[in-house]
Amino acid sequence: MVQSPTKPLPKKLHIKTFGCQMNAYDSERMAEALQPAGFELTDDQSDADLVILNTCHIREKAAEKVYSELGRVRLTKEARKARGRDTMVAVAGCVAQAEGEEIIARAPVVDIVVGPQSLHRLADLVAERASTGKRLVETEFPAQDKFAALPLRATGKRQVSAFVTVQEGCDKFCTFCVVPYTRGAEYSRGPAEIVAEVERLAARGVREITLLGQNVNAYHGDGPDGGAWTLAGLLRRLAEIPAIERLRFTTSHPRDMDEDLIALFGDEKKLMPYLHLPFQAGSDRILAAMNRKHTAEEYEALIERVRAARPDLALSTDIIVGFPGETDADFEETLALARRVRFAQAFSFKYSARPGTPAASLEAQVPEAVKKERLAMVQALLEESRHAFDRDTVGRRLAVLFEGKGRKPGQIAGRSPYLQAVHVEGPELLIGHIAEVDIQAAGPNSLTGVMKSGFEWREPVQAAG
Ligand code: SF4
Repeated sequence: MVQSPTKPLPKKLHIKTFGCQMNAYDSERMAEALQPAGFELTDDQSDADLVILNTCHIREKAAEKVYSELGRVRLTKEARKARGRDTMVAVAGCVAQAEGEEIIARAPVVDIVVGPQSLHRLADLVAERASTGKRLVETEFPAQDKFAALPLRATGKRQVSAFVTVQEGCDKFCTFCVVPYTRGAEYSRGPAEIVAEVERLAARGVREITLLGQNVNAYHGDGPDGGAWTLAGLLRRLAEIPAIERLRFTTSHPRDMDEDLIALFGDEKKLMPYLHLPFQAGSDRILAAMNRKHTAEEYEALIERVRAARPDLALSTDIIVGFPGETDADFEETLALARRVRFAQAFSFKYSARPGTPAASLEAQVPEAVKKERLAMVQALLEESRHAFDRDTVGRRLAVLFEGKGRKPGQIAGRSPYLQAVHVEGPELLIGHIAEVDIQAAGPNSLTGVMKSGFEWREPVQAAG
């Protein structure tokens, strides 16, 4: 029997986002894709007619964490049902892609499972679920370009800094990583579409753009001139947009840092002196086992070349400790490399097996206690390195892009070129603008300073977009 097409659709939407900035971007786009169907975002899950868990597969036991979260969602759904209200539940993101039908089998609370490449179909899936009552799984990698199918980004609340996904997927197949399986092969959006999105963001007040991609520096979009644009070409074009004052990109692979991109750090003032470049391990034996396709020496030589182009470059990285077969000597090489490079920021993790990846079936798994000890050691070193970098900025004058109010009354907060949080006393009028700040102190997680002496606020002359 066909149910009434007039059945009202749910209208309040709650999205819980796990994982990386790319997932945060996807969540924004999902909310925008559902807006024309009448959905409004709510922070309160118990008020939501549609709950979406936008999941991440990178962390340990990712799928199990999603199932326990779904247990909590089930309680909310039951409580709402007791009040006579229905709740639709969707699982999106990389766990949805990896688990697919398994989620429908194990979690009766779930109505829709949708992979990252299909999120533009969400409104259709919600309507289909409401009208047919059928539970749905959409995890194909469709040929249709989801970015083209998504609605234009809405003009929402004031935002100073925005993420724009320009590339998805990965062909590198590092042996520990699920991304090539969950996000598929490398794919780049067309430059014209990206430029148009950034121009719209600029027109609504965005001043800083971070280009996102699992392998962002492998970007190769089909340019309007018929040629393939690299990331450097795309950044150069975006730098021409007058209201965009800062550009960043993440995450890069050392193999894809071409000379043009390196040179851009020296040539393009709008490209911020900050580079996130994972090295994962300092031992060549482990790097080979990880299929990283570079040695430690090549990584350091690359860093030197980027630093030659931009001497004040701040570096950030990802490190995995306890990869299968990692000895104390291998781990020492990771510590030594981290000491030599002096990272301004770093993210370090214990290796944990991802089902289906080659490293998961390696025999020489490192005992948990050893991984824990190594992680503590590397984190202590990286923390010291981060504080040293922050301390070195005390006494300097830095250009700060102000993004919002600070922690204390009268304070405003922003980011330095090196992505450090900076708090300063100043007028809220400065939010959305760049001003110079004399840095006076480095706290555990942020810097504090004063506006450059003689500072006087004037409305800057800026293009509308
Ligand atoms: S390059 Fe990055 S995304 Fe690609 S497989 Fe390796 S770790 Fe995963």
